[in-house]
Amino acid sequence: PDLQNADLTDAATRAQVHAQLTEKIEELRAAYYQDSLLVSDAEYDELVHRLEDLEAKFPELVTDSSPTQTVGGVVDTSTFDPVEHIGPMYSLDNVFDYDELRAWYERVRSATSVKSKFLCELKIDGLAVNLLYRNGELVRAATRGDGRIGEDITANVRTISDIPHHLDTEHPPAEVEIRGEVFFPVEEFAELNASLVAEGKAPFANPRNSAAGSLRQKDPAVTARRPLHMLVHGIAVWTAADDSHPEPAHQSEVYEQFRSWGLPISDYFKVLDTVDEIEDFIAYYGEHRHDVTHEIDGIVIKIDDIAVQETLGYTSRAPRWATAFKYPPEEVTTKLIDIQVQV
Ligand code: NAD
Repeated sequence: PDLQNADLTDAATRAQVHAQLTEKIEELRAAYYQDSLLVSDAEYDELVHRLEDLEAKFPELVTDSSPTQTVGGVVDTSTFDPVEHIGPMYSLDNVFDYDELRAWYERVRSATSVKSKFLCELKIDGLAVNLLYRNGELVRAATRGDGRIGEDITANVRTISDIPHHLDTEHPPAEVEIRGEVFFPVEEFAELNASLVAEGKAPFANPRNSAAGSLRQKDPAVTARRPLHMLVHGIAVWTAADDSHPEPAHQSEVYEQFRSWGLPISDYFKVLDTVDEIEDFIAYYGEHRHDVTHEIDGIVIKIDDIAVQETLGYTSRAPRWATAFKYPPEEVTTKLIDIQVQV
């Protein structure tokens, strides 16, 4: 049977469809995280959605290694040293329309007694990077990898001028892990591709791909020549040096603290309360996404109160206290993914 018309009342067929979807998603993920692109993001998301639907109907199909349960990146140990993140790096769950957004909003509101506000920000289409500062010094930078183990790219990250080697404060935490996105500005992307073609080299498929390709270089001198930027948007471990400088209570305050330390923070985030305000924010940047210097593929909505974040916690793949609203694809794809189901 093909995937669309498979007889799901039959347990063996269900298992086969599950295996076929899983295999295809893993293949696409492997290519994507090796910086090549086999299908559009919308087509990939559609496959993952189908797998989620199947698992929701037949929960016995869920395994720990299903793509719905894993972060799904790569660790290239032939080029980079593997490093273990202190706090795991997660992916994000998605919503694709306002009904799904409202359902998520109601779910997190009813699950918590404290009514936190929501921090809304642009979802930067770049590469997730984890920065580790000890006593205010940048000591390590790593890719997300599989979420637990990433690739050590410290030397490459040190060449990015946005990222301070020392935090500008007399009272840094003893240890802090800061997450952000490294990206290639849209305008410079066109110039880079033109120069690659002029050198007889293959151009990059898109700015995200070029950011990943530029950062994951064996030779940091190559990275240094690329105009990479970073914006930080997350925090994992925060070990305060003393009681008088504790971790702030809200994500938005963490951002202000980061800004005062010289870290690059987006100018576009807003703390909002109602789901109507969140929808307005999403609609505004849906209209203005090309006014931003980097590509965005959605809006991230996070619970602002860190104690409430901790109450909601994480699945094995993503925080329960955040979601990403994905904008519809801008280019209409004409060909649906062709998956051969061999039974
Ligand atoms: P994701 O990119 O949808 O979301 C998680 C990531 O968003 C985080 O790791 C984080 O680094 C990043 N992010 C950007 N801005 C952020 C912000 N403001 N706050 C918090 N996080 C922010 O998830 P993923 O697991 O990295 O990748 C899945 C997505 O990648 C898919 O939905 C698809 O779009 C794409 N993908 C495409 C293919 C393909 O073949 N085309 C294959 C695999 C993945």
